[in-house]
This record gives sequence, C-alpha cells and structure tokens, in this order.
Amino acid sequence: MQQHADQYIDGSWRPSLGGEALTVFNPATEQPIATVPAGTAADVDAAVAAARAAARGWGTTTREQRLAPLTRLRDGLVERQEEIAALISAEQGSPIGFARTVQAGLPVAVASSYVELLAGYEFQETVGNSTVLAEPAGVVAAITPWNYPLHQIVAKVVPALAAGCTVVLKPAEDTPLVARLFAELVAAAGFPAGVFNLVTGVGAVAGAALAAHPEVDLVSFTGSTAVGRAIGEAAGRGIKKVALELGGKSANVVLPGADLARAVNVNAANVFTNSGQTCTAWSRLLVHQDQYEEAVELAAKAAAKYRPGDPGAVGTRMGPVVNAKQRDRVRGYIESGLAQGARLAAGGAEAPADLPIGYYVQPTVLADVTPGMTVAQEEIFGPVLSILAYRDEEHALEIANGTEYGLAGGVWAADEATAVAFARRMDTGQVHINGGAFNPLAPFGGYKSSGVGRELGRHGLEEFLQTKSLQF
Ligand code: NAD
Repeated sequence: MQQHADQYIDGSWRPSLGGEALTVFNPATEQPIATVPAGTAADVDAAVAAARAAARGWGTTTREQRLAPLTRLRDGLVERQEEIAALISAEQGSPIGFARTVQAGLPVAVASSYVELLAGYEFQETVGNSTVLAEPAGVVAAITPWNYPLHQIVAKVVPALAAGCTVVLKPAEDTPLVARLFAELVAAAGFPAGVFNLVTGVGAVAGAALAAHPEVDLVSFTGSTAVGRAIGEAAGRGIKKVALELGGKSANVVLPGADLARAVNVNAANVFTNSGQTCTAWSRLLVHQDQYEEAVELAAKAAAKYRPGDPGAVGTRMGPVVNAKQRDRVRGYIESGLAQGARLAAGGAEAPADLPIGYYVQPTVLADVTPGMTVAQEEIFGPVLSILAYRDEEHALEIANGTEYGLAGGVWAADEATAVAFARRMDTGQVHINGGAFNPLAPFGGYKSSGVGRELGRHGLEEFLQTKSLQF
C-alpha cells in the first residue's frame, strides 16, 4: 500500500505539516489502497501564501505564456488517460469502460476546450469612452467532490489558470489519488511555482480553512447543498466571489406523443450510470397517467441491464457506490420510499445477493411515488429512479419545478417546439430536449438551491475574471 506524506505546494512536493493520514479504500473490495496526508490549517496557509505570492506574476502573463503550459497539461491528460481511468476505477468504483470514456475522457475534452477558448478570448473591449479589461479574480480555492473526481478538478482549475488566477485545490477525501496525479501533470507542464497547489485533507479541517481564508479571493465549490451553504456564508463574510455547484433532483418529463421507450431507456442510463452519483441525474421520471404502467414496466426492464458487478471487469455497467456511508444513505432512501407508500418495481434496499463484499446497491425503480415523498424531494445520489404520474402539462410542470433544486432535466415530446416551450418554463439550468447529448461547452450550473455561477465553456472562464474599466 502506498503511503504518501506530502502536499504539492509552491512548485514542489513537501511534507505535510500535520501528522495525520487519510486512508483511501477501494469501494469494490473494501480494502485500503493508499494513504495521503490529512492536511491542516497550516498546510492551507502555506499553500495560500504560495498562491498569493504567484498571483501578480501569473495574472500579468500573456495569453501565449499561459497557453504553453496549459497545452502541455492537456497533453499530459491524454498521455496518462489509461492510468487515470484505472486509478479512478480503483478509488471511486467506476466501471473501467466508463472510467476510460467519461472519467478520464471528459477532462481531456474540457481541457482542450479551454486551450481553444483561451486562444480566441477577448480580454478587452471598448464601451463608449471606456476600455473594459477582464482581469483574473486572484487566488482561487477549488473544493471538489468524488463523483467525477478529475472532471470536477479540471472544470475548475483549468479555466482558473487560463484566466490568470492561481489555485489551491482541496479534493474529496475519497478520491485524493487522481488529484495527486493531476498535480504531477501540472508540475510536468512547467507552470511557475505557486500557480497551482494541492492540499489533501478532511473537509471540515482543510476545506473549511481554505474556504474561509482571508487571502482567498474566490471559492469554487462542488458538493452537497449543506456544505455549499456554509461556504457561501463564510464567503459572504469575507466578501469573496463564490461559485457553487450543488445537488439536484432533476426531472425527466415525457409528454404525450413522445417516444416513451426511448425516453425511459435513456433515463435509465442517465440515473444508473456512475451508480447514480451524478448531480445532474434524472432521478425523477414524470409520465402521463395513461402511460404510467407501461413506463414502470419499461423502467424495470431497463434496470435489469445495470446489474452491479466488479468495476475492473470489462462489460460491467454499474460498479459500487463510493463508500459505506453513501451505500447506507442510499439504502435508507429506498426504505423511506417504501415506508411512505412507493411500490418496488425493481431492485430494493438489500445488497445484491451475489456481491457480499463491496459497497453495492441494486439499481432500483420506485413506482407510485408522489411529489411529497422524501424520495421525490431529496437528492439520493444513488441508483434509484422514482416514477411520478401527472394529469396534464400544467401538473407535470408543477411537479418538475416542485423541489428546492434546479440543476438539470429532460423533456421529450412529439415535436421539438413543444419540448422547448415546456423547457422554457422549467426552473433549471440545463434541459436535454428529446435526448440531446451532453455538451462540454454549454454553461453548467443550477437555479435555486442547486447553486450559483456556471462552469464549462466561455461562461466557466468568465467566473474567474473580474472587470476593470478605464475611462478616456
Ligand atoms: P460534501 O459536500 O461533504 O463534500 C464535497 C467537498 O467538500 C469535499 O472535498 C469535502 O472534503 C469538502 N467539505 C466538506 N465539508 C466542508 C467544509 N465544512 N468546508 C469546506 N469544505 C468541505 O459531500 P459528501 O459528503 O462527499 O457527499 C454528501 C452528499 O453531497 C451526496 O450524497 C450528494 O447528495 C451530494 N454531492 C453532490 C455532488 C455534486 O456534484 N453536486 C457531489 C458530491 C456529493
């Protein structure tokens, strides 16, 4: 088992200032695979001081000076893609096929998009007698979760560096190994010392110290709404910019006349992939009452295709969830749904019979779910689909908008215009029309309690910029 004792601060790997370690487990075997330092407030201080010292120099580089190391970083992500996939599969539980295409592949697409965007971005415009300059926001704290561990790092760190910001990254406790690999790629890409720093550690210690640090100018956080709220409060007190990507309870609405079978199959893939640990997961399927039983049958059939299994085996479509706490939490939600009157159409709260070891949860379909049930309101973050019936379009809209969240969603209709008209009335940041594909250039982020700010594409770059106007 590898035992790491260092943090990446000010351009080199140096011993953590605390003596504690975090153990990383493989969720499929429940065995420890490595330890990393549990960083302290003193580690965070050192990392933020390095980022602050580097901020003026990096913030005044030319576009070309930033493009060169960013391009090498992107190339490193390509070169080590296979290693990245294996590492994420081991520490997070993603099936190896999904880890290759999405967990390791998406960061390449996102990093490439920022190399292209930076090359063409106008950091200056003229407005009347003013020249408006887009300047870097300064020192960025990036706090990331474990569900798409490298994607979430790249979606924050790469645009921040492209904008001319310096960064301190605090990755999730469960997935620090891929964060360390990312730091190796940054080191090899030749960024000046202090431009990027990594502190691994516990959220309540290292994360909290980083988010509240007076020398941090912007906090970019992805994770739970509860922690996001605390970070937002601390940022408010410090007058810091904040970007929060939080939870979701997204609705996939199938309007009468749509291709029901396709809509249900795509929904199953959406909610069972990554064991349901996707903030944009369509965890609520809304179908017209006349098609309800047909939809439940289709969903149960689709769920059977996501039999959980060894993430290392080629062909496995669903692995375990990330840790025992998440497994227990997800099972608790299934039990709560059944206790509140939902009908079990597939799966269940028990461990899959053939998998006594590993944090596995059965792909589960709950029917007869009504909007007031806990499973229809709270983010489960597991492979659980709730199916709700609606009477008419207005009722469907009321249910779709009837949670505290608003991150994503889907609409299916016989024609695009009908779907778009419905999507315009949804209180949510992204809507897929008739199964439209994920677009890594489209702004990503939430309405309501799903967050503030946008990631990805041009909007994601602009989160890390602030404006100055010069009057002539
Ligand atoms: P979390 O919000 O506790 O953790 C996310 C990140 O925040 C981690 O890096 C963690 O170390 C850090 N953190 C935790 N407490 C902190 C604090 N007080 N100050 C600063 N940073 C802190 O999420 P979790 O416990 O890993 O998962 C719990 C639930 O959150 C999940 O079940 C799911 O509902 C939700 N979640 C959502 C997303 C998303 O992409 N929106 C991702 C992960 C988890």
